Amino acid sequence: CAIKKDRNVISCEDVKEPTNTADADIEEAVTTSRPLAVRGQGNYMYLDDGREILDSCGGAAVACLGHGVQEVINAMMSQAADISYVPWGFFENRAKLALAQWLSRSSGGHFQKTYITCSGSEAVEGAMKLAREYFVWKGQPQRVNYISREESYHGITIGSLSLGGHLSRRAPFEDLLLSKIYRIPACNAYRQQRQGETDTAYVARKALELENMFQKLGPETVVAFIAEPVVGAASGCIPSVPGYIKAMKAICDKHGALFILDEVMCGMGRTGTTHAWEQEGVMPDIQTIGKGLAGGYQPVSAILVGKKVFQEMEMKNATFTHGHTYQDHPIGCAAALQVQQIIQRDNLLSNVQIQGSLLAKLLKEKLGGHPHVGDIRGRGLFWGIEFVEDKETKRPFEPTLQISHRVHDAAMAPPNNLAIYYGQGCAGDKKGDHVMIMPAYNIDR
Ligand code: PLP
Repeated sequence: CAIKKDRNVISCEDVKEPTNTADADIEEAVTTSRPLAVRGQGNYMYLDDGREILDSCGGAAVACLGHGVQEVINAMMSQAADISYVPWGFFENRAKLALAQWLSRSSGGHFQKTYITCSGSEAVEGAMKLAREYFVWKGQPQRVNYISREESYHGITIGSLSLGGHLSRRAPFEDLLLSKIYRIPACNAYRQQRQGETDTAYVARKALELENMFQKLGPETVVAFIAEPVVGAASGCIPSVPGYIKAMKAICDKHGALFILDEVMCGMGRTGTTHAWEQEGVMPDIQTIGKGLAGGYQPVSAILVGKKVFQEMEMKNATFTHGHTYQDHPIGCAAALQVQQIIQRDNLLSNVQIQGSLLAKLLKEKLGGHPHVGDIRGRGLFWGIEFVEDKETKRPFEPTLQISHRVHDAAMAPPNNLAIYYGQGCAGDKKGDHVMIMPAYNIDR
């Protein structure tokens, strides 16, 4: 579509039909067995064979407004017409400033600086570096160790992959991964909480694991602890037990280390509040977001810098030694801001809570009694189903059976035509494989 001078009017008159040559090229280029998605509208995706797929996961929890929202498309086109690229190192751009302001306000002013990146992995990689540099500014260069958790996922670049405990994604690169990262066990009530153990007692046990790791490394050597408040891709929507996040933050504070929350998947409304930590009663020193930030309309993620880190930066007049070509990209920022404004205007977080409760109820009612459904857990519109071979002992299926792939394939096959997300081989024998259901925030009953 061409955008006219009056930037709200879009004309599709100039749209060129693809030529036959282009179609032929595409056909030749399709070398995988993945279906070819050609259009998206609302909660549906359309394949080249005409099938209509209910998108119940938005990829990996990305498409939080569904597909084809014209206001977001208009915002992107309007920004592209104004200026489509602004080199961040030399200029500011309005879309970035407005988005940063929105994000700061979403935290009551706690986040005082924002770096807009393009993927969750980049945001996490940047957060790792920022945390380290903060201690260089503070004159504590001996802080070099990071603590993360098993059964977690933080991204695919070397740094972020090193933090994560997603075993099958780490496997080919294990020998290359960073050495100063130490993982403690996950917070996984289904697998770890003992019969009769209260949440308080379980949290105390978890806190001790972190404390012990601090002591083992030497508390003065730790840069940061990083966690997902609700674990996504590696585990299938596992929420932290009440009080866990607060307890972990308190230990970091005690030892002067930073507390980083990775909300790339569970953040920006997915769990029913803009930030998942709003339900935990603590704020992170640094936070990463992505996916739902721009709902997939542009590749956008961000590093959000809390007061403590920002104030040190200001005091030392320091600059974060970081930055890449597409940082603060104006079209990405315009898309993200529009997505967030729609979520706010249409009161979609309340819909996430309402439809999320319904989804949880139905999943438990319909699937809870299934002999191979071990656990159904989640928050908001972020729900995971873990499969087990033996419900009593919680023994997972043999990985070679590829249960979650098969469930995914069955869901996708006609007449179901349902897209769900699957995860397998993420946590070894520590858990079974899972599927995840994460529809758009405007999904209806
Ligand atoms: N952090 C978390 C919690 C994620 O779930 C993901 C992706 O699933 C990432 C980081 C990496 O994001 P990306 O795939 O956009 O690089």
